Amino acid sequence: MKMRGSKQLCGATNRDGSACQGMALADGFCFSHSPALREKRMAARSKGGQHSAKSARLQKMMPPRLVPVFLLLETVLKELYDRQIDAKTAQAIASVSRSLVFVFTAGELEERVRALEKGRK
Ligand SMILES: [Zn+2]
Repeated sequence: MKMRGSKQLCGATNRDGSACQGMALADGFCFSHSPALREKRMAARSKGGQHSAKSARLQKMMPPRLVPVFLLLETVLKELYDRQIDAKTAQAIASVSRSLVFVFTAGELEERVRALEKGRK
């Protein structure tokens, strides 16, 4: 078991093969890697119905095309918090998402302007 100062580190390895730097819980693994907590996380995730209900609500609040982007970013946030992905990956995803939203919004704005101009003639 690796130690950092007096603190015990998680015994698991990350997806990229590096040793997890998370602080170990009683079972020797961090919050993300603990097998005991894993079951709880899986149970939370399998509440898939909630997901689609939320998706339906989001459809009303934002352009439907952007809903998957929002849901993805929400997952990224959770995974980043759980240290399942690194900050660099999360940043890259956020950056691409921003571009996507920007292009989408610009396109929609242009469409609206066109519709307005059409109505004037
Ligand atoms: Zn860990």
